[in-house]
Amino acid sequence: MTKKELDILKQNAEKLTNDNKLFLNKLKNKKPKNLDSLVHQLDYDFFKKFDCLDCANCCKTLGPKILNKDIERLSSFLKIKEIDFMDKYLKIDEDNDYVFKSMPCPFLDSDNYCLVYQHRPKACREYPHTSQRRFYQVLDQTLLNTETCPAVFEIVEKLKQKLKF
Ligand code: SF4
Ligand code: SF4
Repeated sequence: MTKKELDILKQNAEKLTNDNKLFLNKLKNKKPKNLDSLVHQLDYDFFKKFDCLDCANCCKTLGPKILNKDIERLSSFLKIKEIDFMDKYLKIDEDNDYVFKSMPCPFLDSDNYCLVYQHRPKACREYPHTSQRRFYQVLDQTLLNTETCPAVFEIVEKLKQKLKF
């Protein structure tokens, strides 16, 4: 996706923020039994026709939370000491979590490939959460993710059509 298309996605998501907030709050309260299966099917349909290598907006704009296990795994893969890895790549954010010092991610290459893909942080593996179980637990993040991730934007729009409340 071009920068322009991603800007348009953000603008469209911002216009729908109130609607989406209302809808996702209703989902949180109702917790429909088929929610996970609906979302997983929509996730499958979206990624069947969309390649994240054409986007990488999450890797360019969102700072994943980096856990101690991620630090261990990444520094071991990069063959540097954990303390040096932390020094070189990480800072502590306002929530007291480790995040990358700067975005786009230092491990994103110019073709949108992740240079540490097999060893990437847990948060990167789980994003955008549309294939995980208990989707109702990530509805607050999902609202924010409509502005960043074209998959989440489309999945929420389709969910609104399917669950008419
Ligand atoms: S997960 Fe979403 S934001 Fe990240 S690259 Fe894929 S489509 Fe883009
Ligand atoms: S570690 Fe890889 S998957 Fe995670 S933000 Fe960086 S480039 Fe993206």
